[in-house]
Amino acid sequence: MNPNRRIKTAVLGATGLVGQEFVRLLADHPWFELALLTASARSTGLRYAEAAAWAVPGEMPRLARAMEIVPCSARLLSESGVRIAFSALPAAAARGVEAGLRAGGLAVFSNAGAHRMDEDVPVLIPEANADHLGLVRRQIASHGGFIVANSNCTASGLALALKPLEPFGIRTVVVASYQAISGAGRRGLSAFDIAANVVPFIADEEEKVERESRKVLGRLDGAGIEPAPFAVHAGCARVPVRFGHLLSATVELGREPAPAEAEEAFVSFRSAPQDLGLPTAPERPVIVRPEEDRPQPLRDVHAGSPERAQGMAVTVGRLRRQGRFLSFFLLVHNTVRGAAGTSVLNAELALRRGLIAP
Ligand code: NAP
Repeated sequence: MNPNRRIKTAVLGATGLVGQEFVRLLADHPWFELALLTASARSTGLRYAEAAAWAVPGEMPRLARAMEIVPCSARLLSESGVRIAFSALPAAAARGVEAGLRAGGLAVFSNAGAHRMDEDVPVLIPEANADHLGLVRRQIASHGGFIVANSNCTASGLALALKPLEPFGIRTVVVASYQAISGAGRRGLSAFDIAANVVPFIADEEEKVERESRKVLGRLDGAGIEPAPFAVHAGCARVPVRFGHLLSATVELGREPAPAEAEEAFVSFRSAPQDLGLPTAPERPVIVRPEEDRPQPLRDVHAGSPERAQGMAVTVGRLRRQGRFLSFFLLVHNTVRGAAGTSVLNAELALRRGLIAP
């Protein structure tokens, strides 16, 4: 794509943790231009450098520092020539705003839960279900624009790690999560509640993991998406880690994998984003660590190459096989692969598939 003709994009909720990852990924994107930033009324009118307490690796991009936070209005976005909105809004604010932008003809890539279970909204992880993107043609026909959702951060990592296991037949998944505090957003938990502690409850999280991973790995047919036929049982806890959700999964398979066969399925896994050479695609979506004490959030959260795909690979380790049962740990970067990074990858795929005009 001609660098002088990059597509104008807006980040909604740009001051939050997911919004900051968007800003980082879009500041030097080869196809997309970071054109507008929005946040809540309390930040409107401030420069981004004043409004955002920068929490992601590296310096705040120079381009973003002086940008003014503007109100989140469909008219303002359209008048500014914005064609893609990346949403990092809380779900309650996202529902109306995202629908309004879609009605204005925009392509909306959202991290909020508001529209995930709508029949015509795909929950897209391009390595797992690129074909689900076809659903947006129905939205374009009825609304003008479209919404593509990301799954919840924990479900993103789980679905990506389950995809290479599909050829074995997935029967049941039992998963326990150890989730970073950043998963609750910038103002999520008080230090008093989480320091030196574990909280075995995250509101709605287990339900989201169970239903969204089945939607992601479901089958697109004429009527919509038929959820994957296996059961998922999740138990989710918050732990005092800054970034990276660690999951302990046991999967009952339809047949017993041969020694090293499951590992080989993870290691060799490639999909549409890799075939298409999308800019934010990790060369290897699933990385297997052989060490007995990996993956660890501190060491492995930024897994993925090339440089702009850091945090986009999930890391699997401690693979154990017992008959048809396969157990492993996996680590997903919750604000990158579990949120902003996948949204940007989704937009790259939509552009390549002709759903957004270049
Ligand atoms: P966050 O750190 O709390 O940031 C929220 C952002 O939304 C801020 O920019 C905030 O602006 C803005 N905002 C709040 N209320 C608003 C309103 N009424 N109208 C317009 N803007 C408003 O949250 P986050 O962790 O980045 O999460 C953002 C979304 O992504 C949520 O829907 C969350 O569920 C989802 N998500 C998060 C993760 C994660 O790991 N954190 C992963 C996957 C999905 P101000 O700074 O002005 O308040």
